Amino acid sequence: MRHTDRYFVFLLIGVVTVLSIVVSEKSFARPPQIASANTPIALEGERIYVSPFVLPIENGVILIRDGKIAAVGGHGKVDVPEGTGELDCRGMYVLAGFQNSHIHFTQPMWNDAAKLPAAQLAQQLEMNFTRYGVTTVVDTGSYLPNTEAIRNRINSGEVAGPRILTSGSPLYPPDGVPYYLKNSMPEAIWKQLAQPKTPAEAVRIVDETIDGGADIIKLFTGSWVARGQVVTMPLDVAEAAVNEAHKRGKLVWAHPSNVAGFQIALQAHVDVLAHAVEDLRGWKASYLRQMKSDGMWMIPTLALFSRDSNIADIMQEVDDFADLHGQIIFGTDAGFLPDFNPTQEYLIMQRAGLTFNQILDSLTTAPARRLSESATRGQIRVGMEADLVVLGKDPQQDISNLADVLYTFRQGRIVYSLSNQ
Ligand SMILES: [Zn+2]
Repeated sequence: MRHTDRYFVFLLIGVVTVLSIVVSEKSFARPPQIASANTPIALEGERIYVSPFVLPIENGVILIRDGKIAAVGGHGKVDVPEGTGELDCRGMYVLAGFQNSHIHFTQPMWNDAAKLPAAQLAQQLEMNFTRYGVTTVVDTGSYLPNTEAIRNRINSGEVAGPRILTSGSPLYPPDGVPYYLKNSMPEAIWKQLAQPKTPAEAVRIVDETIDGGADIIKLFTGSWVARGQVVTMPLDVAEAAVNEAHKRGKLVWAHPSNVAGFQIALQAHVDVLAHAVEDLRGWKASYLRQMKSDGMWMIPTLALFSRDSNIADIMQEVDDFADLHGQIIFGTDAGFLPDFNPTQEYLIMQRAGLTFNQILDSLTTAPARRLSESATRGQIRVGMEADLVVLGKDPQQDISNLADVLYTFRQGRIVYSLSNQ
């Protein structure tokens, strides 16, 4: 109910930048060493969780070359060429890199990202993402040019960090800016947030957002305009936005809030619910079946709702959807929530009834399927991107071990190493 984007106001239009954190470069540790992507490297691990759908490989070896997985197999079954670097991961657990599909680059620490000292930016990306094994993030609401600046500095190789996909600024219903945003920014600013009144206006905003570099579109189909009060996006506006995004080859994430907001998302054929439905008054079990048959996916964000009085019902909603083989992808709303540590989300997903393999799917293979990237990401297979996480303890024994990260690799390079800390 107290959802999203509170901090993204600080970035809007560059007006409110007073909270920019000024920290000298010297006060930060150097960013983790980025080894040359051309150096082949072999990892030998206690257990390799290739994917949630096959048995793990015990005492396995992964050969990484040119940023890709060149070979994977049991000890003695992988030909390791001479001159290959070796990383001894015996006693450790190796998984494909994780994707957090609901975050925001909106806290003051990201302000003026183009000008942040490189060591500081690298440190922030490490503290918030790669130290938790996150190699891809989906930002679902931020100031697009600023997020682009972070992405450009990562993609150029200047700083290590996750792959970033972003929605830029979301679209809200008419007079539908959430109260928690209004409360934290001047009226002149929140009035400028995109609140299309007509389908034509929605199409124009979607085009502008995609032309500006957005990878997905984010809609508030239901928006908390006051505590206990949701305003929904008109169906024709939501439909026009979704159709235009799909025409441009982009997926749409939506914030439903309540049953009415969920129904707009469903009828408009939104691709991903950015949250479970929070206010379940009027909810019917048949809605989940409709969602499943319509191909809509869900990001539960259960930790966000953990203090809601109806959290048990929201957990049940997520478990029921999983039982229907509904598609669940992992996301935390970090950036709105101040804590980037995903452990709580892992624990609550498990408490809701999800298995280790379902949670691993939500972090790896499911987002790859959703983004049509299954051929290149989400599993430890030959030819795939060498985005990997090395854990100190077995996550199948204790789900919180998913956050016990020793190394994170992105495209074959170590972007986080606990031993460097
Ligand atoms: Zn959010």
